[in-house]
Amino acid sequence: MSRKEFTLMRASQFFISTLKEAPADAEIISHKLMVRTGMIRRLGSGIYAYMPMGLRVIHKIENIIREEMNRAGAVELLMPLVQPAELWQETGRWQKYGPELLRIKDRHDRDFIIQPTSEEVITDIARNVIKSYRQLPINFYHIQTKFRDERRPRFGLMRGREFTMKDAYSFDRDVDGLKKSYQIMFDAYVKIFTRFGLKFRPVAADNGAIGGSGSHEFHVIAETGEDALVYSRESEYAANMEAAIALPPSAERAAATRSMQKVATPGQKACEDVTNFLNQPLSQSLKVIAAIRTDIAAGEKGHFVVILMRGDHDLNEVKTQKIIGEFRFASESEIIHHLGCPAGYLGPIGLEKREDIALYADHAVTVMSDFICGANEKDMHFTGVNWERDLPLPENIADFRNVVEGDPSPDGKGTLAIQRGIEVGHVFQLGTRYSEDMNASYLDENGKPQLMQMGCYGIGVTRIVGAAIEQNNDDKGIIWPTSIAPFEVVLCPLGYDRSEAVKKTADELYESLKQSGIDVIMDDRGERPGVMFSDWELIGVPHRIVIGDRGLKDGKLEYQGRRDTEATAIPVGDMAQFVI
Ligand code: ATP
Ligand code: MG
Ligand code: MG
Ligand code: MG
Repeated sequence: MSRKEFTLMRASQFFISTLKEAPADAEIISHKLMVRTGMIRRLGSGIYAYMPMGLRVIHKIENIIREEMNRAGAVELLMPLVQPAELWQETGRWQKYGPELLRIKDRHDRDFIIQPTSEEVITDIARNVIKSYRQLPINFYHIQTKFRDERRPRFGLMRGREFTMKDAYSFDRDVDGLKKSYQIMFDAYVKIFTRFGLKFRPVAADNGAIGGSGSHEFHVIAETGEDALVYSRESEYAANMEAAIALPPSAERAAATRSMQKVATPGQKACEDVTNFLNQPLSQSLKVIAAIRTDIAAGEKGHFVVILMRGDHDLNEVKTQKIIGEFRFASESEIIHHLGCPAGYLGPIGLEKREDIALYADHAVTVMSDFICGANEKDMHFTGVNWERDLPLPENIADFRNVVEGDPSPDGKGTLAIQRGIEVGHVFQLGTRYSEDMNASYLDENGKPQLMQMGCYGIGVTRIVGAAIEQNNDDKGIIWPTSIAPFEVVLCPLGYDRSEAVKKTADELYESLKQSGIDVIMDDRGERPGVMFSDWELIGVPHRIVIGDRGLKDGKLEYQGRRDTEATAIPVGDMAQFVI
């Protein structure tokens, strides 16, 4: 075998395994297509093997991230997957992180965690290796496996439990330095997502106690996104729904506030539905829960969604759930009144439990009631309450709206529009949140110890694979942007083993594309053209070239871009130039 043949990327030697049908558990298109194209294989809930086709895409994403991170002056290292609990105890997150943190023990009964993120470890490293102001600023990053025991792993790689993240951590002398480091990362992210060839939008995100413009999320725009994004059509203003600022009520709004609006309209049928729901046999206790935004103080009006849940005592295992009402401009007491709950049935529950249930609803809701009731118990019926029908369960808290389409933009420029997005990156000014707890300090010019100012910057590497597909697909399959496609060009020779002319042309074209740095694969499997074409359309390779005896008679090859409806005949000699 000649060296040239040996280096050929042949489909027959690569692993290609496409499926006609998607698995039953795949709800969204990207998950379906990833399984159908053989990119991933599920091993357990939220745990996947990255198969050869999928891994190529992941590597391309990682390479772009690496190039831009390095260009921005960040330095790569690799922190361990397994981290000692002691570090997490120092920052209090051992207690606070909740059930998403996977805790394990070694043979000596010592506690460890599998990292969901690496602030503790990097701060520990920094406090040990950084002594002087001369070593700052510095930005360390790694691309590493993460584990988060998500309550609802779903959508394939989009919300896995094990996934790959690029996480970076900057250390600065002061707040000004931190702001600069943050801006450098923000700009690098814009470059990274632009190079992916995806439509994306950076939005201001909630920054908890730190406040200001200290946090942004990067979202890939897609209908199926879990988050709602708010932006002004006429200015730069953009925020996720949680961080979106509602202007003081207009006269119109003020009027609406006076009488509580119930989104669902009353109906007897719905009332029966709810009663039936409550009457289902229960192996465990039943909970009825009103969910409320955490940032709404008692007595304040806001947007409420009331959810019935059935599960074990702590609602760790939610068996069934149903939204029974949605209220805008309502207060807690108005809702209680409206639901007709006997006084005392609704009452705030303990903080720990609140957080637990809040996690279920993706962080931003707090349970305001926790009472056992059921259709079996006297006076605990909900009979007579006017619920109308099932409302779709919001996929995310983003459906609890702060603002609505058409509201005035907070910067006074234009009106707001809403679109959905997938969170693929998050940049955050941490300040001294970690350096304080862990005493990460350096000596300044005067030899005085100062706390380091930190920032952290994540990109969901494997989530991007799903997000890219979610944004780019048609009824035939995936349509990869070239920069992250598993292969850029596929050569489809018709009769590679039968026709000398076809083989020779295909091999030569392969060679010239390869030499131009194009990532090309030769489909030498000997499949029928129909099978071959539909496989590559499904897989989503952006450029296809067909080499057949018929075309070669006229000295032509067939080119078809993945979005083209028809093939174009191109002279053999021009093809390499055409594709490059
Ligand atoms: P989400 O709101 O989707 O749960 P997050 O805000 O908890 O994400 P971060 O802590 O900001 O996530 O992590 C940085 C990035 O890691 C996210 O922007 C996202 O792209 C990715 N990511 C987070 N959780 C997952 C997951 N379960 N599966 C895949 N990627 C994830
Ligand atoms: Mg999360
Ligand atoms: Mg988030
Ligand atoms: Mg985030």
